[in-house]
Amino acid sequence: MEKIKVAVSGAYGRMGREVCNAILDEEDLELVAAFDLCGEHEDIGEMLGKKPLGISIDRLTRSSLEKAQPGVIVDFTTPMAVINNIELALQCGVRPVVGTTGITQVDLSRIEQQVESSGLSAIIAPNFALGAVLMMKFASIAARYFPQAEIIELHHDQKIDAPSGTALKTANIIIDSREEDPPEKEELIKLTGARGAVQDKIHIHSVRLSGLVAHQEVIFGGVGQTLTIRHDSIDRKSFMPGVIFAVKKAVTMKGLVYGLENLLEW
Ligand code: NAP
Repeated sequence: MEKIKVAVSGAYGRMGREVCNAILDEEDLELVAAFDLCGEHEDIGEMLGKKPLGISIDRLTRSSLEKAQPGVIVDFTTPMAVINNIELALQCGVRPVVGTTGITQVDLSRIEQQVESSGLSAIIAPNFALGAVLMMKFASIAARYFPQAEIIELHHDQKIDAPSGTALKTANIIIDSREEDPPEKEELIKLTGARGAVQDKIHIHSVRLSGLVAHQEVIFGGVGQTLTIRHDSIDRKSFMPGVIFAVKKAVTMKGLVYGLENLLEW
């Protein structure tokens, strides 16, 4: 069986390193390129603390991508870089599997058009952890029965976007699942931001602290009771089964899929 050739963009980063390791552990995947702004010319094997692999970290450009000829590129970079990276990949005939967060709805609509006209596939998931996908699924069920909900998301202090993509997606899911919105009431806000940010009428509170990885609580309020659904990624390895699954899925499909839940069978 021919191996799927995979490139990693953001390979020098925290998630990118995990992805490179996960690809190297898969028999039917072949790591063919590693792109990043950091660590240029460093051998990816040595960077991962393994033996040299003969693949040097390079800048992601049209020529470096065309030279590597991957079937799939996994992107864990930054909200500033990811849109260009996706466009470049599609122009070069490479399917993007994207975990980078901070992609807006406007960006998504544009990407969808580009994917359609390329005839390729793209998978974008703000959270590749299966537990987080289940948390969102359970939240969609709870939203039908509990009129109120607030989201608290907690991440490591190096995360540059807030709120998290998962929190925004959870808010959308809750709104879509609700039969009706709770009545609005006036509040006396004594300190700006005390009630968090508001997306689709859902309050989202973002915590950034060293020691955290990626965590989220959805707290539902009803008459005389609350329901808390919580997910914790305590290691970045938690995202890898989802990433590997998406890489293998990407070569079998066409079009844009947003959210790992839309690739799973329920
Ligand atoms: P990180 O450690 O900062 O890694 C990002 C890497 O991408 C850095 O080495 C950065 O280099 C590099 N980079 C920036 N622009 C680039 C470009 N144009 N081409 C290639 N590489 C580029 O961040 P992280 O913690 O790994 O997180 C990366 C992203 O994944 C974030 O958006 C985060 O929210 C997201 N994330 C998603 C999931 C999920 O399941 N979907 C899970 C965890 C994290 P510089 O340092 O020089 O900028």
